[in-house]
Amino acid sequence: MGAGVYGAAVAASLARRGARVTVVDAGEPSRGTSGATFSWTNSCGKQPRAYHDLCVAGMAAHRRMGGDWYHEHGNLEWSDDREALRRKVDGVLDYGYEARWLDRAEVLDLEPDLDPNALPADGIAYFPREGWIEPTRMIGHLLSRGVDVVRGDAVVALERDDSVRAVRLASGRRLTADAVVNCAGPRAGEIADLAGLTLPMRNTLGVLVRTSPIAVAVSRVLHAPRVHLRPDEAGRVLLHSEAIDRAVSSGSAGVDRAAVDAVVDAGIALYPGLRDAAVESVRVGERPIPGDGLPVLGRVLALPGFHFAVSHSGATLSVHAGDLVAAEVLGEDHDAELSPFRFERL
Ligand SMILES: Cc1cc2nc3c(=O)[nH]c(=O)nc-3n(C[C@H](O)[C@H](O)[C@H](O)COP(=O)(O)OP(=O)(O)OC[C@H]3O[C@@H](n4cnc5c(N)ncnc54)[C@H](O)[C@@H]3O)c2cc1C
Repeated sequence: MGAGVYGAAVAASLARRGARVTVVDAGEPSRGTSGATFSWTNSCGKQPRAYHDLCVAGMAAHRRMGGDWYHEHGNLEWSDDREALRRKVDGVLDYGYEARWLDRAEVLDLEPDLDPNALPADGIAYFPREGWIEPTRMIGHLLSRGVDVVRGDAVVALERDDSVRAVRLASGRRLTADAVVNCAGPRAGEIADLAGLTLPMRNTLGVLVRTSPIAVAVSRVLHAPRVHLRPDEAGRVLLHSEAIDRAVSSGSAGVDRAAVDAVVDAGIALYPGLRDAAVESVRVGERPIPGDGLPVLGRVLALPGFHFAVSHSGATLSVHAGDLVAAEVLGEDHDAELSPFRFERL
């Protein structure tokens, strides 16, 4: 249920393992959160350790899959709060994660179109194994391998006795199933309700500003104090900031033009060449965040045949976590990896 990064990853893994799989989406694949995400692949400051390790495994799974939608060119980060950044870097180094400190000249070697005056002289953290994905292309690929896809038909009811028997769709169609997987992202709580389960969610909204194609060499993910940015498809640049998220969270239905201008200006302050780009789109995405912030993955003790694959950081996690969930659906034991993320803890 759901054709974002999680639904696609779970379905592809099930199909690869020989199952007959149908993915049902209320709308179109990749039009949910997975189509409005910064999609940075990382485990930078993720706590507790089990969550960090799951994200590292998620990054490794993208690397192994080797899709051309995966871009592992690193992440640069600097902060007004140097001490907090130092603590973060020390923490990930303790976990054996790759990170190192660069000075201005080293960063300009990597990103020559950055304005040198916008950079601190040193204290710039570099995480070389991080990157980003193009979720829509990844989802298209994953759904193209032996998976039936039902589009524009929402799951509206679940039939169950001791275990799950079937789902009913808005069109009236009924699909019988040995197992179902809740991959409904921000709507996962509503699907859980249909099964008589309570999944607390504390979703938040985030805003992404996409430029028109522009001949500026933005090659990496970059986190600066007033803007986060990365390359996007076909020469575009994707911009985000904590301030622009607050502009939408504060209640306005659309995104305040001044907030959009502020994030674009912060991007131009770093890469002056961006001044010739236009704003092509402003998208609001809803982060699917389970109540305690951690993923909810795998089987439900009280309802055999019902499984969860729901988390924030799904761009990083979905290929790996979705594979674990799929393997468990088919009877493999992955309790060691999944036990910190069980539904029952909530
Ligand atoms: C602004 C922003 C920035 C982010 N940045 C990052 C990042 O840098 N790195 C990272 O790893 N993650 C990031 N995330 C989180 C990541 O994008 C999500 O975790 C991920 O996309 C969730 O994928 P999903 O498949 O669970 O949900 P979705 O992509 O939302 O897919 C769920 C699907 O379920 C369908 N659905 C809902 N209800 C029903 C129903 N009743 N019946 C049938 N179908 C239904 C929807 O139509 C939708 O297509 C970010 C998210 C946002 C919003």
